[in-house]
Amino acid sequence: ANPACDRYDYIIVGGGTAGCVLANRLTEDSSKKVLVLEAGLPHGDRLVKVPVGITRLFQSHLDWNLYSGKQSQLNNRQVYSPRGKVLGGSSSTNATLYLRGTAADYDGWGMPEWGSSEARDWFIRCEDNSNGAVTGVHGAGGTMHVESPRYHNELHDVFFEAARQYGLKANPDFNDWSRSQEGYGEFQVTQERGERADMYRQYMKPVEGRPNLTVVSQARTLKIITEQQGGKPVARGCIFGMRNPASTVHQADLKPGGEVLMCAGAVHTPYLLQHSGFGRADHLQQMGIDVLSDLPGMGRNLQDHPAALTAFSLRSEKDGISITDHIYRKSGEIRMRAISNYYLRGRGPLATTACDHGAYMTTSGQAQPDLQIRFAPGSSLSPDGVETYAMFGRLKEVGKKWPSGVTFQLVGIRPQSRGGYVQLKTADPWDAPDLSTGYFTDDKNQDITTLRNGIQISRKMAKMDAFADYLQDEMWPGPGVQTDGELDEYLRNTVHSANALVGSCCMGNDARKGAVVDSQLRVHGAGNLRVVDASVIPTIPGAQTGAATVMIAERAAALIQGKIADKTMRHERQPQLV
Ligand code: FAD
Repeated sequence: ANPACDRYDYIIVGGGTAGCVLANRLTEDSSKKVLVLEAGLPHGDRLVKVPVGITRLFQSHLDWNLYSGKQSQLNNRQVYSPRGKVLGGSSSTNATLYLRGTAADYDGWGMPEWGSSEARDWFIRCEDNSNGAVTGVHGAGGTMHVESPRYHNELHDVFFEAARQYGLKANPDFNDWSRSQEGYGEFQVTQERGERADMYRQYMKPVEGRPNLTVVSQARTLKIITEQQGGKPVARGCIFGMRNPASTVHQADLKPGGEVLMCAGAVHTPYLLQHSGFGRADHLQQMGIDVLSDLPGMGRNLQDHPAALTAFSLRSEKDGISITDHIYRKSGEIRMRAISNYYLRGRGPLATTACDHGAYMTTSGQAQPDLQIRFAPGSSLSPDGVETYAMFGRLKEVGKKWPSGVTFQLVGIRPQSRGGYVQLKTADPWDAPDLSTGYFTDDKNQDITTLRNGIQISRKMAKMDAFADYLQDEMWPGPGVQTDGELDEYLRNTVHSANALVGSCCMGNDARKGAVVDSQLRVHGAGNLRVVDASVIPTIPGAQTGAATVMIAERAAALIQGKIADKTMRHERQPQLV
């Protein structure tokens, strides 16, 4: 198939998490021709498959390697924001945690069609949980594989005991909406027998042979083409540039009545729409772009989970029990045992992204937990958790052993800040976007308070009896950082992304109040143009955002196919509904 000659019923811009789900569902009808344009590489990298490989994916050839502009509230730091640039998108590079948040998160979106009972129904339909179906909570037989973490370290048990001594209860299932989200426990993961179960592998790969599906990787969409119909811009296709051969530019066209489906993620979807003339009129005019639809909310409302950490070294008698000790010999070579355990049993330290045990807590009387603790049984080398992952393995190059220790990554899981945005730097669509994280921009300073409370809570946990025989020194923030002022300065200097960007093409009924898409995910003031990805989420859920994105894409596919009204489901693998 030649995308520049054919015409399509659906052009999917971005073969990431949501794009792979749509590619599968929309090609179930063999009469519909679907084109997927993905800017990144094809899949198939070993580092994607093995969960611990995440450490090598940051700032790699599979990453967009985005940085925010200088953030004045963060002492002018530029914050690194990883995003997957590969088929499967960020599901191919993420930490694989499978968490949905709570019912109140979805009811809080203020869009009844996407409320908690509908959301739960779709979560269950698409899930294939290896622990089996649980009525009203988990599904089995769907497409998205979920399982319990397959690496366990004695330090996890010590953390659980410390959390219990601190006063938390065990939470056996953070996705069970019939119980409080608070407590400590395991976070389930989107893996299958210890292999990353990203959305390319699960949704797109099995259907790549369908004759009505064309997938082009290294094809970067540059602009949506529209024509005026009935007084509004209607999508007709898009312009894309191929990386190989460098910079050749092509056009892909829709059949009459076809749709462009924007699945480029919370940064690139609003970015591309602005390049195409959809956005805040004054900003587009400033960039020299013709305004097709004045959408004041485009690229605004960008939300993310801010994160900070505390880390402690282990006593010398416990040296050797951290995850890094289980992976590396002192010489820095990977242990044969770790490799054989992984390849023979799908278990052990290679089968984890190292943050799949933790806790949820309410730190100052909120109705829902504001803090997620991700406990890692390994020492952070830097106060920036993302940077530590990127440094993983590199100590070998300088001939040093990774120090044994533990890390509490503290995630502001229901942030109040709304100052984040994505806009254009120039009119050149090959340029990087102008990105602002918006961390700590809330009027009442609730978000920095949550992280400050988190540091104090984790310090208290580290002092519980359970840790007495284990922990030695506090590495980060370090004993010199004690007062609120000192802690806030530490936070402004080290806060990093927990990688949950959402909200920049917010779903809502009124474009004048900032909504970009309606409840059917159609762009306000445009025709044949929808957004189906994490950017439509109005308020960030109290969970990592991959599960919510898949739920949205599954339901969107049914909406696009007109299946929602009669609830007809004709998926290939019929999910077992309980
Ligand atoms: P993506 O999956 O990012 O897909 C967007 C796709 O569009 C990409 O493939 C991109 O290359 C492509 N694209 C962009 N621009 C263009 C263009 N111009 N032309 C063509 N293609 C384009 N969630 C969890 O649930 N659990 C976790 O543990 C977790 N950890 C995370 C860790 C990291 C490092 C990251 C980055 C994310 C993490 N997330 C996690 C978040 C989750 O992965 C995302 O919320 C989700 O994948 C977003 O899906 P999406 O479809 O909106 O975007």
